[in-house]
Amino acid sequence: MSRKISILGATGSIGLSTLDLVRRAAPGAFDVVALTANSSAEQLGDLALEFGASIVALADPANVKVLEAKLTGSGIEIVTGPEGVIEAANRSADFCMAAIVGAAGLAPTLKAVEQGAHLGLANKECLVCAGSLFTDAVKKSGATLLPVDSEHNAIFQVLETRQPEAVRRIILTASGGPFRTTPYETLKTVTREDALNHPVWSMGAKISIDSATLFNKGLELIEASYLFDRSSAQIDIIIHPQSVVHSMVEYIDGSVLAQLGSPDMRTPIAYALAWPDRMNAPVERLDFAKTTKLEFEAPDETRFPALRLSRAALETGGHAPNIMNAANEIAVEAFLDNRLSYLGIAQTVEATLIAAESAQTLSHSPDSVANVIEIDALARRLAREIIAS
Ligand code: NAD
Ligand code: MG
Repeated sequence: MSRKISILGATGSIGLSTLDLVRRAAPGAFDVVALTANSSAEQLGDLALEFGASIVALADPANVKVLEAKLTGSGIEIVTGPEGVIEAANRSADFCMAAIVGAAGLAPTLKAVEQGAHLGLANKECLVCAGSLFTDAVKKSGATLLPVDSEHNAIFQVLETRQPEAVRRIILTASGGPFRTTPYETLKTVTREDALNHPVWSMGAKISIDSATLFNKGLELIEASYLFDRSSAQIDIIIHPQSVVHSMVEYIDGSVLAQLGSPDMRTPIAYALAWPDRMNAPVERLDFAKTTKLEFEAPDETRFPALRLSRAALETGGHAPNIMNAANEIAVEAFLDNRLSYLGIAQTVEATLIAAESAQTLSHSPDSVANVIEIDALARRLAREIIAS
C-alpha cells in the first residue's frame, strides 16, 4: 500500500533530499499529498507536477502567478500565505516531513503534529522555540516523532528506552564546521563565503552559518534535551571532523553505542520515511579499510561562544532558548546580507539575551504557542535594534 506523505519546505535541502528518495523508491511506494515552499514558485510548480501533489502552498504570495500558470489544468490546488502553509500541513497524510527553516516552521509543524501520524522532524528551531509545548502536543496527538537531524536520528537509533536510568549521557558529535582550526584573530575578518563553505555537509544557507558559529550544535543540544528528556548535564558535545559517527549514547555499564554512516542526510531521512522498517538510500557506503581515522577533540568555547550561550539558555529554560533562537535568526540574516560581522552573530545573541533579561521575559515558561510567537517577535525586535546600534 502506498504511504501518503507531505513535505513542508519541499524546495530546501532536506525537502529535495526527501523527494530524491521518493523518486528512487518503488513506483507507488509513496503518494505525495502536500508540498510547500516560501517563494520558489517555479520550482514548487515543477515538483508538484512531477510528484502529482494534491495541494501546494506558497508562503510568500508575491510569485503566485508563476505557480498558477504552471499548474493550470493540472487540478492541483494552490494556497498561499502562512495560513496556506498551515492548511497544507492539515491535509491527511501518513508521514509529514517538517523541513521549513527557522521558527516560521512552528505553526505548520504543530498542525501536522495534530494529525497524530508520523512526523519527520528536521526543523529543530521549532522545537527549540516551543520546547515542552511542542513535545506535549506530540504526546496529546499520539504522533510519532522521528528525528531527522543526523545526530538526533543517531541517538534515536541507539537509545534504549526500556530502562531510562541506564543511560549515563548522550554524546552529540559536531564536525566543527569551516572554522574548526581558524585562530580567533582571523575569525574577525572571515566572510559570508568562508562561512558558507562547509567542509563535510551540503545544507541550506542558515544551517550552514549555524554550523560555522556552532549555534547549530547549541540548538541541537536544546533539541536533544527536549526530545530525549535529558538535562544539560547529561549531554556532552564532542568535535569529530569526519562526521562519520553521528552521535553516541553511553550506558551505566560503560557501553557506548554509536550510529555511523557517510555524511549524507538521505540516511536519516530514509530512516524516518520508512520507520519502523528500513528502505534503500543511495548513499556512499563506509569503507573501514579506507576510512583511515576517526578523530575526536574537545570543543573550544572561547572561539565558539555559541556553545556557552546555548547551554546557559537551556539551563535557564523558559523563553531563553526561544529568545536565543530568534536573535540568532536575525543575526544570521544580517550576516548573510553583509550587515554584520561573523563575530557579531554571537555578540548580538548574547546582547539580546541580556536585554530580554532586563525586560524580565527570560525565565517565564511559555504557556501557549501565541506566547512563543509573541516573545519570538520581541526578541527579533531587540536583536534588530542591537544590530542597528
Ligand atoms: P533550506 O533553506 O534549504 O530550505 C528551507 C525550506 O523552507 C525551503 O523549502 C523554503 O522555501 C522554506 N521556507 C523558508 N522560509 C519559510 C517561511 N517563512 N515560511 C514557509 N516556508 C519557508 O533549509 P534546509 O537546510 O533544508 O533546513 C531545513 C531545516 O532542517 C532547518 O531547520 C535545519 O536546521 C534542519 N536541518 C537541515 C539539515 C541539512 O542538511 N540541510 C540537517 C539537519 C537539520
Ligand atoms: Mg545536525
